[in-house]
Amino acid sequence: MKVTEHLKAAKDTLFSFEILPPLKGKSIQSIYDGIDPLMEFKPRFVNVTYHREEFIYKERENGLLEKIAIRKRPGTVGICAAIMNKYQVDAVPHLICGGFSKEETENALIDLQFLGIDNVLALRGDSIKTESTFRPHKFGHRFAVELIEQVVEINKGNYMMDDVQLEPTDFCIGTAGYPEKHFEAMNLTTDLQFLKAKVDAGAEYIVTQMFFDNEKYFSFVKACREIGITVPIIPGLKPIKTLEHITFLPKFFKIDYPEALSSELLKCKDNKQVEQLGIEWGIQQSKELKEAGVPCIHYYTMSNSTMVKAIAKEIF
Ligand code: FAD
Repeated sequence: MKVTEHLKAAKDTLFSFEILPPLKGKSIQSIYDGIDPLMEFKPRFVNVTYHREEFIYKERENGLLEKIAIRKRPGTVGICAAIMNKYQVDAVPHLICGGFSKEETENALIDLQFLGIDNVLALRGDSIKTESTFRPHKFGHRFAVELIEQVVEINKGNYMMDDVQLEPTDFCIGTAGYPEKHFEAMNLTTDLQFLKAKVDAGAEYIVTQMFFDNEKYFSFVKACREIGITVPIIPGLKPIKTLEHITFLPKFFKIDYPEALSSELLKCKDNKQVEQLGIEWGIQQSKELKEAGVPCIHYYTMSNSTMVKAIAKEIF
């Protein structure tokens, strides 16, 4: 079932979450261990992130450098199929532009359709560590909007390969939104215009980047509505877990902590105290969002379900 159908059918705020594919070498059980504790809150869908390969340069005996691709986490197609099969819950693979030619994207979509997966979250992806800015695949997409357009074309039966007869797909397409602006955007206005372009191209709902100040989400939704974005906007929440997160999350995700939170974080002496505060803050944020009638709250587990479970127990 499509994410939008779940949202339409819901009588109350839904619970959903995102998991990371396990590091290579771990078994599928490590995925299940992350999902099992959260199934009691009846998620209607579970997202699976996509992680690009990175490249390193190794010096050969002759002194020349060899470019080696390192893939730390497996792709999403098989994991999504396994999740759907085990839990009878919809899995939403993240589909990114980075590292993919259009043809490879088409093949991935054909695999997903074959496995009965009818949702995708269409993203651009970030630059890899060896690039200072995002560089698209030579035969790929520069922006998420182009990826969305490709999925829409395949939904109409317009494939790149014309040597085989393929049925139109029926993917429900989600996209990303940034209440505090995407870090590369010139300003919030242009970022919102490009977000609207993604919706106009065929994205049917938006999942936001994490935020810690609900006011940022509420004003983002208001600004979206003012420029004519009418699709559901699902807030994404991440509980802060460690002392390291205090500086890592703002640095990596380009988000701010509200002062009420930063003043409490400054008092934390160890990870345990941060974790406790993270849970309390997550509960408070979730309660307010639920009271405001958001369609769903989406939690970033980052492969750790303990904190999300502690929050969900109070909310769902
Ligand atoms: P886009 O919508 O393409 O936007 C990228 C930037 O370009 C923005 O600044 C935008 O304003 C600008 N822009 C857009 N269109 C145009 C245009 N036509 N001309 C000029 N500028 C334009 N990354 C992963 O690698 N794997 C994941 O699984 C993953 N999951 C995510 C899930 C969520 C919910 C979110 C919020 C992010 C996720 N990301 C993931 C990170 C995401 O890939 C990065 O934030 C990336 O830098 C931008 O992706 P996007 O889809 O928002 O890009």
